[in-house]
Amino acid sequence: MARIFSGIQPSGELHIGNYLGAVKNWVRLQAEHPGAIYCVVDYHAITGSYDPAVLRARRWEMARSLLAAGIDPAQAVLFMQSDVPEHTELSWIFTTITPLGDLERQTQFKDKSSKMESIPAGLLMYPVLQAADILLYRADSVPVGEDQVQHLELARDTSRKWNAKFNVEFFPEPKPLLTPTRRILGLDGSAKMSKSLGNTVGLLEDDESIWQKLRPAVTDPARVRKTDPGNPDVCNIFQLHKAFSSEATQAHVAQQCRSAGWGCMDCKKVLHEGMVAELTPIRRRAELLAAEPARIADALSDGGKVARGIARETIDRVRDIMGLGSLHAP
Ligand code: SF4
Repeated sequence: MARIFSGIQPSGELHIGNYLGAVKNWVRLQAEHPGAIYCVVDYHAITGSYDPAVLRARRWEMARSLLAAGIDPAQAVLFMQSDVPEHTELSWIFTTITPLGDLERQTQFKDKSSKMESIPAGLLMYPVLQAADILLYRADSVPVGEDQVQHLELARDTSRKWNAKFNVEFFPEPKPLLTPTRRILGLDGSAKMSKSLGNTVGLLEDDESIWQKLRPAVTDPARVRKTDPGNPDVCNIFQLHKAFSSEATQAHVAQQCRSAGWGCMDCKKVLHEGMVAELTPIRRRAELLAAEPARIADALSDGGKVARGIARETIDRVRDIMGLGSLHAP
């Protein structure tokens, strides 16, 4: 059975964009692929300037959010990347076979580095660490959003190059498992949902707070008056209905929108009901976890042990193939 690996940055509490774009899919996949490996990639969070106290809190909140969202330590391996030092060891090994030009061509590197005066080498090497994250577990399938496909391509190249250099078939070529939900736009209806843009709904927000955010959210811009027929296909609220409402409700919403039977507030109230129905159990689980923090620490500690076991096996084999490892007379 295919081994699944995926990682998420420790950005603190999840928002519904992370949830719909990645984590909801992880929860589904853990049942289909027991032993799926999910990692909070905290080494990736230190390439820019950051506050250690904030990072500490965000790692914790991300772990709590993931468990509350349904990642089940009995089915999946959940751990912190920095608990498994082999990630950085394999990353160093891969830097020795990765052409600099391939890294400089990465879109995310070009975007981020163009705004910096002094570019940390870690920003350039980020995709090499990402390749190491995946290949350390010899994962064959990686659930990703479309914006990560280029980085996965580099992991596939790395696997091919390393195998060819040492004339072995050791690392698989990991394939993307594209997340079924397309990119989730923020409530401004124009940019990707992102905490830094302030256009998110937090996964753990209460019902009233969610409603206060939905009320002013951007809809079909051509629908000015309630009597104007709308076009759900261009409306971000309808995209959220696709994630939170039943198919029957979606069909009814579309019909009411096109016929101007409902105003946008009526439509948002129905969306709010769907969101509350899905998010309330998650929020309740998060509250229980906050009251019993040892459950979070234990889950991460157990996951770290399993991950280190797999990682150690890979690294021992890699060292042996490369002429490193335990010393003996040639
Ligand atoms: Fe969007 Fe709903 Fe308003 Fe139509 S009725 S424009 S789908 S919010």
